[in-house]
Amino acid sequence: MTVAHYEVLSLRIASDPQRTVGTNFFFDSFPGPADLPMPQDYLSWVLRGDGRCILVDTCFTAASAERRRRHMHRSLEALLADLDIEPAGVTDVIMTHLHWDHAGNIGLFPNARFHVQAAELAFCTGPAMLHQGVSKIYNREDVQSFMAPLFEGRVAIVDGDATLFPGIDVHKVGGHTPGSMTVTVATRRGPVVLASDAAHFYANFQGRSPFPILENFPQALTAFDIIDRLSGGSIAHVIPGHDPIIASAYPKLGERHADIVCLHENPVIDIAAAMARQFSLGKTA
Ligand SMILES: [Zn+2]
Repeated sequence: MTVAHYEVLSLRIASDPQRTVGTNFFFDSFPGPADLPMPQDYLSWVLRGDGRCILVDTCFTAASAERRRRHMHRSLEALLADLDIEPAGVTDVIMTHLHWDHAGNIGLFPNARFHVQAAELAFCTGPAMLHQGVSKIYNREDVQSFMAPLFEGRVAIVDGDATLFPGIDVHKVGGHTPGSMTVTVATRRGPVVLASDAAHFYANFQGRSPFPILENFPQALTAFDIIDRLSGGSIAHVIPGHDPIIASAYPKLGERHADIVCLHENPVIDIAAAMARQFSLGKTA
């Protein structure tokens, strides 16, 4: 039996330089001074191989970035153009969850099928959205834009764990949101686990202290155990959803591609050392 192997590309679209250590962990025994800067990156991922080109998450639009004061590096559309990927030609998009920073740009993909957990769709269209503190982490426009593929039969509902394609498995972990899922991709260096927001930063995962936006705290802790199992206990096979360390830990796709790194290659720096620097100097690498 031949095994499908994929290229996994991380596209860095935007950053939030305002965050500090104290805002990024549930437990207040922080790995560094609470007021130390600890910026976030905002990413999408492209999986290429076995005759497929699949997008994981759609990040956000320039309008959202401006409204929420995030610093945009390149739009998703521009980064895809750099990769010669025509949005209308994208056939499948895997949504790890539907928070505003993962589910913008839906209309950019008029022919794609969107894979999403049933629990996520129910949550962001259900009574929990009556609470402004919960609904503000979703963009109403994004949730509304998700109705187009839904009513056109282009949403593939996932309920639990599933193999979506040969070599691409999703695991429902919940915790951060009810329908949060991880994506495990077979590469030539072994499985790459896109944790997405089941682990915003390496330090959330390593310290077993989740990012404080949570729907179910025990599930968030169990998610760490699931990621640990899926990655074979190797931090080099875990990809957090927002950690700026990623941009320097993996080789760039090429000179022309400053914001695209190759997760199917081995890390080029020691991730544990980069984490230590994150808390001693406030720098990521
Ligand atoms: Zn996020």
